[in-house]
Amino acid sequence: KKPHGKKQYAIIGLGRFGSSVAKYLAEMGYEVLAVDDNAQRVQDVAHTVTHAVAADSTDEEAMSSLGIRNFDVVVVAIGQDIQASILTTLILKDLGVPYIIVKAQNELHGKVLNKIGADKVVFPERDMGLRVAHHLISPNILDH
Ligand code: ATP
Repeated sequence: KKPHGKKQYAIIGLGRFGSSVAKYLAEMGYEVLAVDDNAQRVQDVAHTVTHAVAADSTDEEAMSSLGIRNFDVVVVAIGQDIQASILTTLILKDLGVPYIIVKAQNELHGKVLNKIGADKVVFPERDMGLRVAHHLISPNILDH
């Protein structure tokens, strides 16, 4: 299940965030399963990752048959469709995925994700906005 003790990752949702996570992990030599219900998005990462599959993550049977519970970490990177993000997280939880990281669209979405058992909730746009602002007022930056 875990060759060389390396963790195995599944990334669901291959937008800018999800595909970036998937590609980096694959480049670092980790086993990565990439999932999206958009066949074109799956195609775009297929050459980079270990397995790329077109599937609807709100379909519990489809997730179960992918063996999603055998992955150490699953990243849910579905942004716009909050309902799909929540249903997917719930299904992964029910299937017994040990560690689930979910990208949240806003604070309320994040709250729901925490309540249904997401292990980590991330807010990439908010956090990057803060980092950029911080960078702008850091003493090393004189003229921006
Ligand atoms: P980003 O900011 O990372 O580009 P985003 O927040 O705009 O992404 P979306 O583009 O809405 O997020 O979703 C990311 C991906 O998730 C899309 O490629 C979309 O096809 C996929 N996706 C949405 N719903 C599902 C689903 N039910 N099953 C599988 N993939 C899904």
